[in-house]
Amino acid sequence: MPEPIYLDHAATTPVRAEVLDAMQPFFGPRFGNPSSVHRWGREARAALDEARERLGRCLGASPDEVCFTSCGTEADNMAVLGVWRARQAEGRRAVVTTPIEHKAVLAVAHEIAHEGGEERLVEMTRDGAVDDASFDELVRSDVAVCSVMWVNNEIGVVQDVPALAARAKARGVVFHTDAVQAFGKVDVDARRVPFDLASISGHKIGAPKGIGALYIRRGTPMHALMFGGAQDRGRRPGTENVAMAVGLARAAELAVAEREHECEKLGALRDRLEAALLARIPDAVIHGRGGRRAPHITSVSVPGMDSESLLMALDLRGIACSAGSACQSGSITPSHVLTAIGVAPDLASAAIRMSLGALTTDACVDRVAELFPALVEKARGLATATASAR
Ligand code: PLP
Repeated sequence: MPEPIYLDHAATTPVRAEVLDAMQPFFGPRFGNPSSVHRWGREARAALDEARERLGRCLGASPDEVCFTSCGTEADNMAVLGVWRARQAEGRRAVVTTPIEHKAVLAVAHEIAHEGGEERLVEMTRDGAVDDASFDELVRSDVAVCSVMWVNNEIGVVQDVPALAARAKARGVVFHTDAVQAFGKVDVDARRVPFDLASISGHKIGAPKGIGALYIRRGTPMHALMFGGAQDRGRRPGTENVAMAVGLARAAELAVAEREHECEKLGALRDRLEAALLARIPDAVIHGRGGRRAPHITSVSVPGMDSESLLMALDLRGIACSAGSACQSGSITPSHVLTAIGVAPDLASAAIRMSLGALTTDACVDRVAELFPALVEKARGLATATASAR
């Protein structure tokens, strides 16, 4: 059996050796609690402060604008719900977001509606971009917070966050971006782009699972969602995870330093993969291809195929990717992202997401470009044989 191929970097990435090295001492002799006054505590505090400063530099932020969280989901929750609650006294009761967000934002918007607020979803173009007219219509002076993801996790489309953030802020609306898939692929820098809040997640950039961060521009109104400690200025109480904070800072530094080279490499690999697939399966559809996309994600549907059987067939041959659909109580529901950009349900249910990263090479791409069409041809041949035997 040839080496397995991992094409699921948007789900998670392997922990980088440099990150593991940076974290190691904090699982050993440097185990102190940063709130303790003795030398162990002071040492842990110094490491945490340094990690905050280093991560801040990667985001164009000062250290006090960086809040460590347990993951990207927590950062998204804190941003959207925390700001919405803080702005209720001003009478700003609405939240605006897109229908293609990760559930970490969409479910919070539902929660806000449940708590008496109003949830507004902007319309999307068929290429997966925010529709400007719809955005301008919904983002009014009664909106507390607007959340638009920078890079979509299923199809890789990139939103024009600099322009959207500026337009939201001109109406006094706090602007959050879920930059979980964007960090390391686009320039997420608070000095150059006027977002107020940005979420990132460690395990998408070579740090372990269980650490994320929220950038919070100084002066942004926000209520804490948890209580019981003064850590992180009361914004996020609980003893800090020093080792993970150190790991995230190191991973972020590497991601920023390597961003341009990585984007060039992954973009070329993705283009080669897509061209090869389209050459052998001419009716395959690559979602969001007409718009601006990040280089590491491609979502392909082959008419007549279903994503679950194709995923299983690929897995049997050692190729790991994921479906652009969710399996709920045994039935496949088409991806909410594809549905929102107008993809027909049968095509949406056929979507396979392949996401490239550190483990992807030319040889991986060539093998997938060979195997994927062969599996499709086989499945189509079987379907035709079954139909004619009836
Ligand atoms: N936002 C986006 C765009 C994501 O892709 C993910 C993870 O898949 C998340 C948020 C959630 O991040 P985490 O897994 O760190 O909670």
